[in-house]
Amino acid sequence: MLETNAEFEHAGIRMLGFSLAGEEAYIALPELNVAFDVGRAPRSLVAIDHVFLSHGHMDHAAGIAYYFAQRMFVDNSPGNIYVPQPLVEPIQRLLRVWADIDGHEAPAHVHAALPDSDVVLRRDLLVRPFAVNHPCRRHDRSWVQSLGFSAIEVRHKLKDEYQGLVGPQLVELKKQGIDITRRLEIPLVTYCGDTAPGSFLDLDYVRNSKILLLECTFVEAGHRDRARAGNHMHIDDLRDIVPRLNNERILLTHLSRRTGLSEAKHLLDRLLPGETDERIRFLMSCRRRRRHAALPKSSDS
Ligand SMILES: [Zn+2]
Ligand SMILES: [Zn+2]
Repeated sequence: MLETNAEFEHAGIRMLGFSLAGEEAYIALPELNVAFDVGRAPRSLVAIDHVFLSHGHMDHAAGIAYYFAQRMFVDNSPGNIYVPQPLVEPIQRLLRVWADIDGHEAPAHVHAALPDSDVVLRRDLLVRPFAVNHPCRRHDRSWVQSLGFSAIEVRHKLKDEYQGLVGPQLVELKKQGIDITRRLEIPLVTYCGDTAPGSFLDLDYVRNSKILLLECTFVEAGHRDRARAGNHMHIDDLRDIVPRLNNERILLTHLSRRTGLSEAKHLLDRLLPGETDERIRFLMSCRRRRRHAALPKSSDS
């Protein structure tokens, strides 16, 4: 299979990604220096300093050790992965095992991500984790809460009552210890990872995010039970969900490999006849480009 990224741009935000159920899932946002899920750690993702992992399933998490190793290989800073809290210890253990096998220990920052606990990346950018509906059962039979993430721009605007004042007047107010600005949050990109429908879709910053990446694994009529059993979305779920969303763009991720993209698009058109292809589409139907131009085709083995 020729390795490709899907590429998409909206509101000045570029996204490079790949998302097929069970195979690989990641989204890199180069301008924000943020990625959601690590996939198999393709080159476009290795350059990103902050990677947020939705859950531990292999299609989303396989490249963790490779991500850190590649960053060391190209003399980059160690990089940061933010993961559901119960996964911190097993991932650190995984990295130690890889150090045993490989002979080199790549420096790594593995952080716990907790629902509703903001990760502040810059004065004007934070990532907010939230709980989604895709519980993962671990080997020891405990459950891990999967997460979605919203990248939110933070602006500090002059309060209305101080509009029209000139510089020295504002400086004087500041000297008096008066807070002359109000905080404004602008949700830019929200990634829901793998999930069945859930109350997270009612969160303001999810519904109003400029771009929403929402999974839609199953589209065939006979696969509704399979979607529920695996805590995934079926295309029929979108009929209720999409009218409640204000997002400028909705990209559907994690489509099953079993379903052809053209068939999925056809079903989507039929399900939501009023929606344009411009507002809602499958991520993998966006423009594709080769990930590693210099590499030969890999086999499917
Ligand atoms: Zn998955
Ligand atoms: Zn999953």
